[in-house]
Amino acid sequence: MESFEYNAAPARVIFGSGTLSKLADEVERQKLSAPLLLSTPQQVDQVTDLKDRLNGKIAGIFTEATMHTPLEITEKALDYAKSTNADSVISIGGGSTIGLGKAISVRTGLPHICIPTTYAGSEMTPILGETQNGRKTTRNDPKILPGTVIYDVDLTMTLPASMSASSGVNAIAHSVEALYARNGNPIISLLALEGVKALASSLPTIIESPLDKEARQLALYGAWLCGTCLGAVGMSLHHKLCHTLGGSFNMPHAETHTIILPHAIAYNAPAIPEVMKRLAETLPGSDGDAIKGLNVLLKRLKVKRGLREFGLKEEDVDEAATIAVSNPYWNPRAIERDPIRELLRRAWAGEDAK
Ligand code: NAD
Repeated sequence: MESFEYNAAPARVIFGSGTLSKLADEVERQKLSAPLLLSTPQQVDQVTDLKDRLNGKIAGIFTEATMHTPLEITEKALDYAKSTNADSVISIGGGSTIGLGKAISVRTGLPHICIPTTYAGSEMTPILGETQNGRKTTRNDPKILPGTVIYDVDLTMTLPASMSASSGVNAIAHSVEALYARNGNPIISLLALEGVKALASSLPTIIESPLDKEARQLALYGAWLCGTCLGAVGMSLHHKLCHTLGGSFNMPHAETHTIILPHAIAYNAPAIPEVMKRLAETLPGSDGDAIKGLNVLLKRLKVKRGLREFGLKEEDVDEAATIAVSNPYWNPRAIERDPIRELLRRAWAGEDAK
């Protein structure tokens, strides 16, 4: 075995069904008395429920969390946190709301309790992506990592089937890239394979029966593991392409991950034969071929396969390829413009990966 470095995420995790009932105890345990509650406009009901669970003992509620954490929203929330003397933040929602919680927490030092309701995994990472004037920048700092995460499977029951599918594949992508990360290690690889296995077996059930609690529990468990992988090791081609498509072309986050993943793996496949083998073993119906296994899964999840279905124009493919190869980064296979352009064209057209 080769030597390696492993950094454990310091977060405290409470996992299960009905775990939201432990929120008040958690707030008391940390001696907090004035949390600022955060959500998107779509999750006002869930954030209002938190207020009730805390017997109204909160600093306030801010419900304007937005995808890609725009700076002007963060500044508005910071002003509100200050005016209400908040001593902590509690974010309930997906990566957008958790991103806002991180943005406030890292600027103020306020403790952050996360209650995730999607499978995106941001709660497990010391990473924060923010946008200003249409440009997305990402930073990595241990201070960004939330202190406590409460996973309550009951909150994920309302995640629509199609969003569950793409959010779940977004999580799988974290694990896939962790398996071939330059700074990967055996502990993270174990979590990555277990995470892919949990999601690949539970997501098809969720598509058929979104209220299947056992499948929902398994998916959330898988998402936790995949998020841990994202937070622990470096990501490569797949995440860079999705970052370009989201940041420069406003493509939706989870759906873009879902479309790009088989293409990115196919590009890297020649350089990672051992990973491809291990991945194939976790994907039902793969017949020993990880790309086939992923295609089978995506078909069962009934997800959209072409970037053009989300408004990317054919002429954008060239520019996306140029941006994607302009900043060098580590990847198991060298990044070359022509094959990357072809990868993006196939993803744009919705063709199968090869
Ligand atoms: P999201 O947070 O934008 O949520 C999408 C929509 O679904 C929102 O309207 C939200 O309110 C709603 N929603 C969430 N959970 C729901 C539920 N259980 N029931 C009903 N509706 C629900 O989507 P996301 O994919 O979770 O997050 C995407 C954002 O997170 C992007 O900005 C991305 O860059 C960021 N992200 C960051 C990291 C990181 O480590 N920094 C990791 C993953 C994602």
